[in-house]
Amino acid sequence: MRVAIFNNQEFSTLEVVKKLRQLLEIPFFALDDECPEIVLTVGGDGTLISAVHRYENQLDTVQFVGIHTGHLGFYTDWREFELKELVESLKLEERCYVSYPLLEVEVEHNEGKECFLALNESTIRSLNRTLVGRIYIKEEFFENFRGDGLSISTPTGSTAYSKALGGAVIHPSINAIQLAEIASLNNRVFRTLGSPMVIGAHEWIRIALESSMNYVITFDSEVIQLEDVRAITYRIAKKRIRFVSYRHLDFWDRVKKSFIVD
Ligand code: NAP
Repeated sequence: MRVAIFNNQEFSTLEVVKKLRQLLEIPFFALDDECPEIVLTVGGDGTLISAVHRYENQLDTVQFVGIHTGHLGFYTDWREFELKELVESLKLEERCYVSYPLLEVEVEHNEGKECFLALNESTIRSLNRTLVGRIYIKEEFFENFRGDGLSISTPTGSTAYSKALGGAVIHPSINAIQLAEIASLNNRVFRTLGSPMVIGAHEWIRIALESSMNYVITFDSEVIQLEDVRAITYRIAKKRIRFVSYRHLDFWDRVKKSFIVD
């Protein structure tokens, strides 16, 4: 089995990586950073997100396992004291996995189109002025937006930035994406729904923008600045992220332990 280890550089993580490498030193495993079947991330959710972007062109063949060295993560199922159990379970013949939706972001600018993927969310803001955009659901005009920006998140991203914007927490088995406003301005000209909106797999969201502006667009922790953006379309990506799942951590239990009581 070809495995890659992807980790952050914190001291506690490096200790875990050392132990993990020792456990993987048996003929069944081959460490392969270029073409792995399994990517073991060691760190937090941020580390797992970086790993997904590192391997985003190989998502059809790669499955992820998250080992957390900090507090309980949303993408990280295993603790540092469970390494032996984890390595044993990787040797099982039948590998089970769960897959979750990703967000596809198509940016249209004067030179053409570019596509990006996000695991948590993508946000858009204008660099120096209020963001103004016409929002369409599929081909239908929906509303005129004016405000600081917009966030479009996946179900797994619903516990991250989207939640801070008042978005609903969505079970990751639901194939949907969520639009949340960042400080919208409401008056007679610019009237927005004012609450987060969840759309399904057969729909997409398009924001038509003023192309003379400078925009800051994020994809998870990645930030880019673009000029001359005409429109951005958000939809559920065809690619999905796959996690090896030998055991089931109940999503709502994880939400409770992260946000309410441990
Ligand atoms: P960061 O400051 O390094 O990390 C932000 C925090 O969000 C970390 O504690 C991270 O957990 C946690 N997180 C990441 N994905 C999560 C998820 N799906 N559910 C619950 N918590 C999650 O920020 P960054 O690296 O620039 O951005 C990474 C992500 O952080 C973004 O995609 C965004 O969703 C989130 N974020 C949230 C806020 C907010 O809530 N106001 C602000 C900025 C960014 P770990 O410690 O386990 O890595």
